[in-house]
Amino acid sequence: MKITRITAIPLSYRLPEGQTVKVGVGATIKRDAIVVRVETDEGLTGYGEAHPGRSPGAVAALVNATLNPMLVGMDACDVVGVWSRVHRMQLSSHGLGAGAALALSGIDLALWDIRGKAAGMPLYRLLGGSRKRMPAYAGGISLGFQPVPQLVEEARGHVAAGYRALKLRLGDNPRDDAARVRAVREALGPDVDILTDANTAWSLADARRVIPTLAEARVGWLEEPFSALDFGAYRIAATLAPSLPIAAGENHYTRWDFARLLEDRAVTLWQPDLSKTGGITEALRIAAMASAFGITVHPHCSATGINHAATLHFLAALDNGGYFEACVSRFNPLRDMFGVPFALGADGCVEPPEKPGIGMDVDEKVFAEFPAIDGPGYVVKF
Ligand SMILES: [Mg+2]
Repeated sequence: MKITRITAIPLSYRLPEGQTVKVGVGATIKRDAIVVRVETDEGLTGYGEAHPGRSPGAVAALVNATLNPMLVGMDACDVVGVWSRVHRMQLSSHGLGAGAALALSGIDLALWDIRGKAAGMPLYRLLGGSRKRMPAYAGGISLGFQPVPQLVEEARGHVAAGYRALKLRLGDNPRDDAARVRAVREALGPDVDILTDANTAWSLADARRVIPTLAEARVGWLEEPFSALDFGAYRIAATLAPSLPIAAGENHYTRWDFARLLEDRAVTLWQPDLSKTGGITEALRIAAMASAFGITVHPHCSATGINHAATLHFLAALDNGGYFEACVSRFNPLRDMFGVPFALGADGCVEPPEKPGIGMDVDEKVFAEFPAIDGPGYVVKF
């Protein structure tokens, strides 16, 4: 079964008035996603998702103009071969670094969708997993910088919906960051796992001021306090409160960025995103490295149902999988455009889909509703 064509389709929508969420990287004004379609000479078509990296048109152009001709004619089941060819010809030499990893991720996911469809198996089974129940947390772009009463109300709503874990945003300023965490812990009691994410907005001084409060509130993790490659700051932060695990990985690309994380042992929870780090092929390698060092993998996940469903399959096949990140953004039509990608049970858990491949029914007619919009998805000024 040969690859005959690879096409990336960039998609966007603007957030309606009143739906902006403020987090450490800015205030959301629009959301983007890229769906990657891979066609084969046997009539099977697979769909993957590439993270747009704030520039959906550019990442889609890389797929369509450069990677498509580089890969057409290859065996559609040879995910390792495709990965290696893109790595050799694009990522490691004359490459675009993260941009090439984003593009490759979407292609790799589509190829795994094809493998599952060809085998007539849901992806979790093809990957060696089982249809187990996995804990989910309320994540995505939600629980942002807002007055404490509104934040507590939103948090209570997620708990009422069944979540036993949720993620608060940090990186506003040390005083408000600490106040929000304290208030939510007080409102929800000791049994809800409160996770936190600074979206790289902190300085080391911020970390020194807020980390004691996070430890006191028994927060489950502190995610991305600093820029992904600021390894020295991560090393210092890890010494400030031994009971507080530090998480990162959604901005670490390929096994080599994770290998560098491993050297310091400062980041003890890993969060690769299948649509960013190099697809399922690479995320499996990263998870295997983590397993050997007692590191739990809590994949980052966003945008469409394709990445959500693929992440469920991936988690179901790990021996060191942690939480599923469920996007609970109030307004995310890209998440739901192919149907609901996950259903939260009364136990706060989710399961992988049962259909062959990634298991989403992609109806391309819906793409017309989300024409790509150039420009950044976040603005700095609130
Ligand atoms: Mg994050």
